[in-house]
Amino acid sequence: MPSAILPNGTAHRDRVTGVVKFTNCLLVRGADLVNEDLWVSSISGRILNGQELLYEQRIAPDSIIDLGGRILSPGFIDVQLNGAYGFDFSVIPEDGAAGYGKGVQRVNKNLVRGGVTSYLPTLTSQLPDVYHEALPYLGPSGASRDATLGSESLGAHCEGPFISPTKNGIHKVSVLQTPANGISDLATCYGPANLSSPSPIKLFTIAPELPGALSCIQSLADRGFTVSIGHSEASYEEAKLGIKAGATKITHLFNAMKPLHHRNPGIFGLLGTASSSIAKPYFGIIADGIHIHPTTIKIAWNAHPSGLILVTDAMRLAGMPDGVYDWTNGSRIIKNGSLLTLEENGKIAGSSAELVDCVTNFLNWTGAGVVEALRAVTETPARMLGMQDVKGSLREGTDADLVVLDLRDGGVGVEKKLVVDQVWKFGKKVFDREGSA
Ligand SMILES: [Zn+2]
Repeated sequence: MPSAILPNGTAHRDRVTGVVKFTNCLLVRGADLVNEDLWVSSISGRILNGQELLYEQRIAPDSIIDLGGRILSPGFIDVQLNGAYGFDFSVIPEDGAAGYGKGVQRVNKNLVRGGVTSYLPTLTSQLPDVYHEALPYLGPSGASRDATLGSESLGAHCEGPFISPTKNGIHKVSVLQTPANGISDLATCYGPANLSSPSPIKLFTIAPELPGALSCIQSLADRGFTVSIGHSEASYEEAKLGIKAGATKITHLFNAMKPLHHRNPGIFGLLGTASSSIAKPYFGIIADGIHIHPTTIKIAWNAHPSGLILVTDAMRLAGMPDGVYDWTNGSRIIKNGSLLTLEENGKIAGSSAELVDCVTNFLNWTGAGVVEALRAVTETPARMLGMQDVKGSLREGTDADLVVLDLRDGGVGVEKKLVVDQVWKFGKKVFDREGSA
């Protein structure tokens, strides 16, 4: 459907430009929602300079998408996803590599429909064999710029096994390790090739108080990896040493670490550090309404708003229908909405939240504006990963990964709700709630 007339009145040249113009929409730009058009290329998959196309190159768009006043956001980035749609990144299926590769593809195709256009597939603590088998399937997957593949891996997140056995959460204690020999222990565990460039790994979670951990953090940072501290007994002082060694993030703040104590603020204390002393780290937050009290999230956000990253930490039952599912060791999990509990004792058994619902929760709990809330799943995680020129914004030249959102705002005293109406990947529509993609 080429548009026929250019602004100067000349007829549209009869060639396909692949240019798409979004109009009548609110763009997430800087600190505001602005009423502007957005131009993207479905050929390069990137955001274009609309002014230049229109006035200098006199190019008319192939299609114009009227969004009826809805929000157009950069695609969401989830830096902590353990699995979804029945697949667990940490489990090699019975049919081995073939089944594993298919499972990853299934996650990618379904995940994108919720607005998560890129993510870090996350491995919980495992024996070395699992890393050697799984990591080849989890590396960055966007090089072909093929929108039909769905959500894109930006690289794996290895959460452990170099974490504290007393802050293991759901990780198996029997597979945890101490990196007493420094980086060579990590090379043995993950595979030496996976620690050199290009690597399928993007992010590591390490407990900084373990013997040898600080030198590992430094080596990983020197090699260009991002390091996060978590699943840790670290005191405030130990956590600070982790940041000085090169860590730039905290993994799911508040969960699997010491709570704030007024005489030992622990890892949380890093958010109160003067920025002249150390750089305040980014921090992941699970805003699923189960893992952390809403007020606690608000306190963390107030302490360091530009560091907050919303993560789902979801596991393989995310995206599955409610019901009772077999789990490991003969136990079973009851899924009721995003609440997962063990059948035998009712204990919380992980998260199955969707990222857009975490954004909605964050909006309602903190009083943040829509732009601030969306930043926690777009611009901030992109910056944390050093990918701000590629992902997470609507700036010219970045990837045209986009989410069309309907903000349902019931007014005073009524909770807001963000709904994903459309998703675009590399400039092509891959999901439409109305059913046309
Ligand atoms: Zn964890």
